[in-house]
Amino acid sequence: MKQGPGTRRIEDNMRSGPLAAHQFLGRDLRSLADIILQDQLVLEPLGLTNADIAQRMAYFSAHAEEGSGPTLVDGKFEVERQEHKGGIPCPFSDNYQSTKSITLVKNMQLGKTVQWSDLNIHLIAEHGFYEGEGAPFRVDPVEYAEVLEIRQLK
Ligand SMILES: [Zn+2]
Repeated sequence: MKQGPGTRRIEDNMRSGPLAAHQFLGRDLRSLADIILQDQLVLEPLGLTNADIAQRMAYFSAHAEEGSGPTLVDGKFEVERQEHKGGIPCPFSDNYQSTKSITLVKNMQLGKTVQWSDLNIHLIAEHGFYEGEGAPFRVDPVEYAEVLEIRQLK
């Protein structure tokens, strides 16, 4: 995939500089454009869009925010929110500032838990960015679709 100068500058900001501490790219050596493209290629056969994933995550985050402590959602998901002080800027330089709070969701039927920060939802919805392999907040689209039971709306 071709990279415009904008994408390259954003990638440089993620790999070095003040944003590097957040490890958005993990140990991934692929270009930012390729990381984004390849996750889209994974989503396509599943029939899912970035909006499907982001909306489902936002749904659980909203439930987690309402509850105090672990909360049962839809009879099988245990959701919990970890509030963290401070903010984190979107690395795509769009002046979006996110909280650092984290949502944890356990699918009790599968016995699997996934987690994400509020910023992940924005990154997926607005930029189609699930972070690089090995990133602390990488959202693996296939794994998250399974655990959160994200299905194509027919
Ligand atoms: Zn953004």
